[in-house]
Amino acid sequence: MITIKAAQKILSGIPLRPVEEKESINQALNRILAQDVESKIDMPPFDKSAMDGYAVNSKDNSQRFLIIETISAGIIPAKKIRKGRCSKIMTGGAVPNGADRVVKREVTVEKDGYMRIVDEDPNRNICFRGEDSKIGDVVLQKGTRIRAPEIGVLASMGLSTVKVYRRPVVSILSTGSELVKPGTRLAVGQIYDSNSYSLAAQVSRMGAVAHPAGIVIDNISNIEAAVENLLKFSDLVMLSGGVSMGDFDYVPGILKDLGFTLHFEKVAIKPGMPTVFATRKQDVVFGIPGNPVSTFVVFEIFIKPFLYRMMGHEYKPEFIQAELKTDIRRKKTTRVSFVPVFYDGRQAEPLSYHGSAHFHALSKANGLMCIPRGVTEILGGSKIDVRPIQ
Ligand code: AMP
Ligand code: MG
Repeated sequence: MITIKAAQKILSGIPLRPVEEKESINQALNRILAQDVESKIDMPPFDKSAMDGYAVNSKDNSQRFLIIETISAGIIPAKKIRKGRCSKIMTGGAVPNGADRVVKREVTVEKDGYMRIVDEDPNRNICFRGEDSKIGDVVLQKGTRIRAPEIGVLASMGLSTVKVYRRPVVSILSTGSELVKPGTRLAVGQIYDSNSYSLAAQVSRMGAVAHPAGIVIDNISNIEAAVENLLKFSDLVMLSGGVSMGDFDYVPGILKDLGFTLHFEKVAIKPGMPTVFATRKQDVVFGIPGNPVSTFVVFEIFIKPFLYRMMGHEYKPEFIQAELKTDIRRKKTTRVSFVPVFYDGRQAEPLSYHGSAHFHALSKANGLMCIPRGVTEILGGSKIDVRPIQ
């Protein structure tokens, strides 16, 4: 058995070469940037009014100002502002020459073609050219995960396409003779395959391509054939089930027979101890214990960072500081435990959790807390770190 840290070190030592491709910004959500994005323009590209108001010169102390022009957003101002004059300007309009201040409408009175300032407004109300970024500035860095704000930045730079990393294809194979597909009837002794679906969801929300490959019974040659077939087109194959100590837990043996190197087969994590990581040249396989909570946790702790690295992104999990709501105790301390918690913005409540098959507890959770090795109890009121889950 190796520690979580040792397993993570092995995973991060595997060389990966993400492939670049061009993508339209409409399709770029959740993708990873394969280039630094340099600003091609000043942002904003011109001095822009931040308010509806009147463009004036800030040194002009005139009692009233003749309105010489109305500047709406999108038009080029025709007239220069001189003493005693102003242009009426709308938010987003280009500030005319000679003006360096926009007096907001709320502090003015307009009458007979003149504007008077009747109240104070200390702000200049102009977004100056290049204030956000200048030509040549790196506005987004290679390796950044593209979210809605990044899409907005790309569009605001005038880019319609961007270089991103190719989405890895992740095949998911559920092993187990007891498994049946949701939507069909259960016979005695059978259970529904949920891992194929929860794993596919975990993969898809990262922006990788999930390929659910269905169910295969606990039979060596069936599993072997299915794995070899999936490896032909997959960047990563995840097998759920069949990795523990049972008579029909064939996965580690199969991977050895297929010529894989098993980098680890047991990790000091609870749930998820019999996790297998194996490679054969470019082929990568994870064998995950079939219990649904184990599957979820193992993906989160080991596979997600690895898959992100395949996508060109260095994943750093977030942690939120919380106060533990109730005491938490355990007997064995040889492994790091991950416990589902509900975090309400201040406190984290451990959810009653009856072993690693209890998916229901996970559906009520929005985070995982961690009990380090050697620790038997954490008292209510203690400060803990919560790792958010989605
Ligand atoms: P295993 O890892 O094959 O020993 O399975 C451990 C437990 O997880 C058993 O109770 C299995 O029935 C259950 N299990 C295995 N695969 C799945 C799956 N795909 N969906 C839901 N439960 C599963
Ligand atoms: Mg099984």
